[in-house]
Amino acid sequence: MSYMRRISSLDKIYHFKTEMEINAYHYTAGPIGTRWLEALKNGELKVAKCNKCGTRFLPPKLYCPKCFSEVSELESISGEGYIDTYSVIYYNDSGERMSEPVIIALIRFEGIYGGIIHRVKTDPKKIRIGMRVKPVFRRDKKGSIDDIEYFQPIE
Ligand SMILES: [Zn+2]
Repeated sequence: MSYMRRISSLDKIYHFKTEMEINAYHYTAGPIGTRWLEALKNGELKVAKCNKCGTRFLPPKLYCPKCFSEVSELESISGEGYIDTYSVIYYNDSGERMSEPVIIALIRFEGIYGGIIHRVKTDPKKIRIGMRVKPVFRRDKKGSIDDIEYFQPIE
């Protein structure tokens, strides 16, 4: 079977199912990532800001992606962004069709370098690149990217 052909069933290709080791490790968010996750726990979406060159970026990292200076500042943003690209997923990882498709998108924000990959809840027939979206936070937040349950279109 060529990789150029569409795969219609996982039974037709050789595969194995296993747990990835990644679940056995714990990664730290670092000092700025920890503060960013704490902000999410409070229902705020923030961006990292470089004091040297002024670049504002996501996801937050200890060093500026433009000038490599150490970053210690976070800044609040409205959370309103736009869909830069997306994928509509109809099948789960076992190849079974899901009752509801899942939309995963790269969401960018005006004036911010980088972005967030997250779920978008909308009609798959209506989604488009450039669509304006905003985050919907969970009621029970834990300090995780999943504190944003999904992004939804701005009417
Ligand atoms: Zn910088």
